[in-house]
Amino acid sequence: MKIAVFSDIHGNLEALKAVLADAKERGYDRLVCLGDVVGYGADPEECVEVIRREVFVDGSGESVVKGNHDDAVAGGDDSYFNPDAKRAVGWTREHLSEGSLQWLSALPYEKRHSGILLVHASPFDPGEWNYVVTMSEAWNAFESFGERIAFIGHSHVPFTVGIDSAQSSLHVETHEHVILKPGWRYLTNVGSVGQPRDGDPRASYVQYDDEEMTLDRIRVEYDIDAAASKIHEAGLPAFLADRLFKGR
Ligand code: ZN
Repeated sequence: MKIAVFSDIHGNLEALKAVLADAKERGYDRLVCLGDVVGYGADPEECVEVIRREVFVDGSGESVVKGNHDDAVAGGDDSYFNPDAKRAVGWTREHLSEGSLQWLSALPYEKRHSGILLVHASPFDPGEWNYVVTMSEAWNAFESFGERIAFIGHSHVPFTVGIDSAQSSLHVETHEHVILKPGWRYLTNVGSVGQPRDGDPRASYVQYDDEEMTLDRIRVEYDIDAAASKIHEAGLPAFLADRLFKGR
């Protein structure tokens, strides 16, 4: 089965549409979204509608988990957010329908099926929004799941790290196309659709093939000018528009 996994859309409809079109062109059996559908970008309601229609399809196995911005917008804690993020949370809340807020609020923190774990932030404490960036955090992550592969988002920086079958060493995979080794387990940050922060402004997602046992990191160009203009027009912090061009 081919699974397209993406995360951190952040209300960027242009980036979301570009990623879904690219995934459709390559072909997939299942779509998975790791949360932060909203927050920062100017099209939160439209992004929720697209995710509900295309990804959150009841009974067909498609999955969506909750991100920290989804949680904050739907009434969760936002006291740890910086001022720009907090302003975006308030703006986003005012621009979402009651139905979308309820849908975001009801999303699960994690999902497990077919040998994969889906979580927005960390496998060790999904609702605490910890980052998994360092090698010691990756070790902690591997100790807290038994699935073949865990998909995460949250940092907006894509990476893949594997642990050998003896559980004795970690290996960072730097290639865009990774052939998964038998007996190894993997942790993959899929990067961000709507606000990449690894210096590449193109939208990021991954495609996982659980028969071929391959993982592909994919980048997609989208209309950054349109997404940025909408942020300016909405009166959201200008910084949120400017960073889209830099991928930072
Ligand atoms: Zn995010």
